[in-house]
Amino acid sequence: MNQEAFAFIEDLAEDALVPAIDIDPQSYDHVIVAFSGGKDSVACVLHLLEQGITPELWHHDVDGHQPNGETFFDWPVTRAYCEAFAAHLGLKLYHSWREGGLEGEMTKHNARTKRVVFETPDGLGYAGGTRGSISTRRKFPAVSADLRVRWCSAVAKIDPFSAAVAGQDRFRGGRTLVVTGERRQESSARSRYLEAEPHRTHAPGPRAQRHVDHWRPVIDWSEQQVWDIMKRHGIVPHPCYRLGFGRASCMICIFSSAKQAAAVRALDPARFSKLRAYEDDFNHTIRSDMNWTELANSAAPFAIDTEAAKAAMSTTYDEPIFTEDWQLPAGAFGEACGPS
Ligand code: SF4
Repeated sequence: MNQEAFAFIEDLAEDALVPAIDIDPQSYDHVIVAFSGGKDSVACVLHLLEQGITPELWHHDVDGHQPNGETFFDWPVTRAYCEAFAAHLGLKLYHSWREGGLEGEMTKHNARTKRVVFETPDGLGYAGGTRGSISTRRKFPAVSADLRVRWCSAVAKIDPFSAAVAGQDRFRGGRTLVVTGERRQESSARSRYLEAEPHRTHAPGPRAQRHVDHWRPVIDWSEQQVWDIMKRHGIVPHPCYRLGFGRASCMICIFSSAKQAAAVRALDPARFSKLRAYEDDFNHTIRSDMNWTELANSAAPFAIDTEAAKAAMSTTYDEPIFTEDWQLPAGAFGEACGPS
């Protein structure tokens, strides 16, 4: 692990104002899609393939890649869905995770934030975990656009991604394009995102010699365009969309609506009870105005499709990933609560 990887792990700063840049996606040595399994990241991959570009996919396991596939925040099936998608298209998929996952960071008591582990073509890489302050978290991420307090995105996704770029020599001396699937239509904060800018790992100086740009190719796409490209390629969406969820974010997302919280309780009562036990134990609720029981009580869950529920709650993906009979899922154009 090099010092740059350390720096990305230990220091989280809000993205600084940076210049917009023009992107020629054909001009890069490496094209990486930050791949969640959600519809927007699927759209990015398909859009690149339509231009003759073969990306590699990077997926962040927010629960820390537990040996038995156990999850707390994420949908049990997400990792397997990502693998099925990559295998169908013949794309390389690399996972990364924070040891202990979001739950480990959330329950941190007089300890350091744990290290990041990332898969590479040559085996596992590691970064962080040995420096930084010893501190206590024992609270959920804040429901905020400010990444310093909404620490889940940084701990489980942004920093692991940066550490994996900075920690691999294969990105030295070449041009790398990082592709993410934010859309301006999703939120007012995202409406201000640039389509392209230098990535936070861009370090072209003589030491790192790393040119890394960040491109959001679907930034101005409508949700209809996203579903259209999935339909064109016959890609079956993540099972959570069939359950009525408008986004494939964490199953327990701090931004969840009342309906989504009610659906989580209906789908997995044990997970819901564990979440509530944490709220009581921390004396800190996810929402500032009510606990998750009160939130879930304030709405009826989606009508649960039992086949979709079984698929979403499995650690294996046992359905076809490709279909010639593509159907718009129940969650399309519905509630899309998620990171702002
Ligand atoms: S999906 Fe929600 S809970 Fe998960 S990392 Fe993003 S903001 Fe946090």
